[in-house]
Amino acid sequence: MTLNESSPEPFLSLPFLRLCGAVLLFTASVRPATATSTLIREGRVIDGTGAPARLADVRLEGDRIVSVEPGLRPAAGEKVVEARGKVVAPGFIDLHNHSDRQIFEMPDAATQAAQGITTLVVGVDGGGPLPVGEFLARLDAAPAAVNVATMVGEGNVRTKVMGEDFKRPARPAEIAAMRELVAQGMDEGAFGLSSGLEYDPGYYSTTDELVALAEVAAARGGFYATHIRNEADETMRALAEAMEIGWRAHIPVHISHLKLGTVGVWGRTAEALRILHDAARENDVTADWYPYNFWASTTYVLTPGRDFEDRQTWVRALHDVGGPENVLITHFPKDHSYDGKTLAAVAASKRQDPADVLMDIVRRGNADILGTSMSEADVAAFLRDPLVMVSSDGGIEIAHPRGAGTYPRVLGRYVREQRVVPLATAIQKMTGMPARRLRLADRGVLRPGMKADVVVFDPRTVIDRSTAADPQARPAGIEHVFVNGVAVVEGGRSTGARPGRALRSLPRNVGHEQPLDRPAVHEVRGQDLVQVARPHARVPDVVRVDGQRDPAAAVLQAARPADDDAAAQSTLLDHPLQGIEDLLGPLLPARSLGIAGRADVEADEDVALGLRHGPILSE
Ligand SMILES: [Zn+2]
Repeated sequence: MTLNESSPEPFLSLPFLRLCGAVLLFTASVRPATATSTLIREGRVIDGTGAPARLADVRLEGDRIVSVEPGLRPAAGEKVVEARGKVVAPGFIDLHNHSDRQIFEMPDAATQAAQGITTLVVGVDGGGPLPVGEFLARLDAAPAAVNVATMVGEGNVRTKVMGEDFKRPARPAEIAAMRELVAQGMDEGAFGLSSGLEYDPGYYSTTDELVALAEVAAARGGFYATHIRNEADETMRALAEAMEIGWRAHIPVHISHLKLGTVGVWGRTAEALRILHDAARENDVTADWYPYNFWASTTYVLTPGRDFEDRQTWVRALHDVGGPENVLITHFPKDHSYDGKTLAAVAASKRQDPADVLMDIVRRGNADILGTSMSEADVAAFLRDPLVMVSSDGGIEIAHPRGAGTYPRVLGRYVREQRVVPLATAIQKMTGMPARRLRLADRGVLRPGMKADVVVFDPRTVIDRSTAADPQARPAGIEHVFVNGVAVVEGGRSTGARPGRALRSLPRNVGHEQPLDRPAVHEVRGQDLVQVARPHARVPDVVRVDGQRDPAAAVLQAARPADDDAAAQSTLLDHPLQGIEDLLGPLLPARSLGIAGRADVEADEDVALGLRHGPILSE
């Protein structure tokens, strides 16, 4: 059994392989099929690592995947799903989802499950539930069809502390109070900090303020996901700010719904991606993206400034989206006769200038709009980039068709029809990559031992059918969806089952009871490190690198066993970084070492302990 044949990682230590092999053998040989198991037969397994499809049967038992191999025979009473010609993949993990409230109102999450989503991450764009613990407990008590994880939202934290008086930088005492709330959210299970800097109140947050909050999430192993300050002409500057926050707070940065949203920046994907890739040499940087060339938001985001009475601003805004015919009003609470019409159409019917109509809308409140403002070439270029993964920016019922169509649209339109990326790459961007972003060790890859979140779809027919006029229309081709081993979609229909779980980011020291398959980390033998830290009394036995660590912090941690040995510690600290980076340079995506002290491991265990921010298991 070659666990890592498809792993993108160049290097894994022998003990790690031995350990996994042993545990894999155990599960494969000991568990008999039972009536609670499901056999998915003869499908093309695409496992979420980016490896190409292979023919195999997949057995789910309880909430786990127990076997992935050809030639499995159905046991008596076992449920069998015939999947010949179909793709069997891990369930899709949506890193940017707005179902925070709807998950309780519509726990079947039918539009989500129907497109193959098995885990959604809410609390995005700076919004989301507070307190996090209460939200997750509510989900425990009233489970949904899909798994739900959450971020702690910077905007809501800010509102809680500053109330209505938010149109200014926060004061030191307020920042301290916000840090407490972020800490609480992380400690209760949030996966990181989100911000929405085009919205109130995040718009008024300073970079320093964001760094101060991100530091708190970083210390608890979280990442910083951001709807950047500007997705229009100032996109590059806004991306740079996000990179700065990551660098200063030592936190992985994730750009939400990466896009170039005005004509002024169209075609500049290379420049945007260069900002991400440059930063990725020093930090862990990723992004997500949705497969549409129009966005959904409110009239507010059309104006980068906040001077709503400046008519020139609105004229400019309309130019930036390519004209008033590119602005579709989906919901205007003050006058529903606008709903479903373009701004150009409303202006024509009122015999007014579009900019005046827009100003009037903003004066009377705000409207939800769709802006067709992206270049299709840019959309495709972002999908091709290895740092970019798929998200929906959707929700169970939203006005934008991406809420019901994102994943089938990528598979049908961008993979099958346009061949923008290979199928296995697209699946990886929907499964293995987001799982890794979350440090979720037991989902996102289809292998024995992982949670049984599985999608079976027909690659020849899968396609989205939701449109601006019918945004909840179900897709075609998604045939079976399992969440924790239970079917939530069967033969393309919702079963009404609600096997989803509230996922918590509580770091565990997984030790040698680590999951069968954590996100692979690089490992380097301790003897190599001796060259760097020879005088150190207790050299770490194994260095593990997961793209999330700061080398200075890692070195300090390594030195900690020698707290009583000041000389050794200072020797290590005198010149550690250069040496370690030289040593690990070829393996390192970022300044990120995790070091496990041999002293912490039982003498006969040839296994490292987990990282300080170890992989996360669902239970
Ligand atoms: Zn957003």
